[in-house]
Amino acid sequence: MKFNTKVIHGGQEHDPAYGSVMPPIYQTTTYAQSTPGGHKGYEYSRTHNPTRNTLENAFASIENGNYGLAFGSGLAAIDAILKLLQPGDEVVSTNDLYGGTYRLFTKIYENFGIKFHFIGMENTSRIEEYITPDTKLIWVETPTNPMMNIIDIVAVSKIAKKNDVLLAVDNTFATPYLQRPLDLGADIVMHSATKYLGGHSDVVMGALVVKDKDLADKLYFIQNASGAICGPQDSFLVLRGIKTLHIRMQRHCENGKAIAIYLANHPKIENVYWPGFESHPNFEVAKSQMDDFGGMVSFTTKGNNYEEAIRIVENLKIFTLAESLGGVESLAGHPASMTHASIPKEEREKTGIVDSLIRLSVGIEDEGDLIADLEQAIG
Ligand SMILES: *Cc1c(COP(=O)(O)O)cnc(C)c1O
Repeated sequence: MKFNTKVIHGGQEHDPAYGSVMPPIYQTTTYAQSTPGGHKGYEYSRTHNPTRNTLENAFASIENGNYGLAFGSGLAAIDAILKLLQPGDEVVSTNDLYGGTYRLFTKIYENFGIKFHFIGMENTSRIEEYITPDTKLIWVETPTNPMMNIIDIVAVSKIAKKNDVLLAVDNTFATPYLQRPLDLGADIVMHSATKYLGGHSDVVMGALVVKDKDLADKLYFIQNASGAICGPQDSFLVLRGIKTLHIRMQRHCENGKAIAIYLANHPKIENVYWPGFESHPNFEVAKSQMDDFGGMVSFTTKGNNYEEAIRIVENLKIFTLAESLGGVESLAGHPASMTHASIPKEEREKTGIVDSLIRLSVGIEDEGDLIADLEQAIG
């Protein structure tokens, strides 16, 4: 099955009871047993739920994995991965990563005796310097937020395999429409399904997909034992979202490209961060591991003026000033005052998050309307 067919049918069967084309929302906590232990595969909905299972199978299908797991949020999915570790273990992670992931690593798991090394992985040659006999996990996010850095998944996976370390990739920004980390050698692919997979800014959810049965069994055990699951209603909504992932992503990519090019030619704009430019430092890697370049675009204005950036995001009319990304509607954010405000100015500027940086999640509205909106806001 090709991807465009998988998003609609992958891992899904018509409901055996009445043939309903969409899975019923099994809004139940428990399942009748004819005799103790005599059930139809379902006992209690923390452990299993038919609607959630259908979604988990769909996750596995679109990421070319064998096993999918759904969680109550993207962070709950990352939390489950970290519970594979023990005190004394070490993790090597990208240094430009989602703020909530960084917070989970440093404010929760460091307290449990896990050590994290945050390093730039745009050049993979330095990764092995940080690998010790205690290293159990490499954590990669690509493209990164908000600087759109690109990390070579194949190169990192070779290092991970050579050193017998698990490689997990946060594939939230790219989605499997653009990039399939398991095919590139990763062991675990993770999503904030809140973003493009759900796609309509109406559900918070997380996902994991793996190929290996032993790894899947450990993660299912953690999912059930820790209990950070999602409900059947949300499972239904994300399954519905996935059915249009390919056509939404196609338009996100088209609009993202048009806006990146428009901004790059604008006299008031200094830098545009989008992995589809030949001038992007890892353009060749992006071209080889991604099928297109996505709908996330960041930019800075000439003079790097904080107040001017605030004025631009306030003036936007079609773009909504909001956190999050990946929905059908276009959003704009100002990292220095919003998502990254808690990081000291000198620290955030080291990774490129300067005062005038604006991040766009380009939606699937009309391209001309979006450009006209930017035009009037930038002035
Ligand atoms: C949003 C996001 C997360 C966290 O997911 P939640 O669903 O908000 O818990 C993790 N990684 C990336 C790249 C994200 O954008």
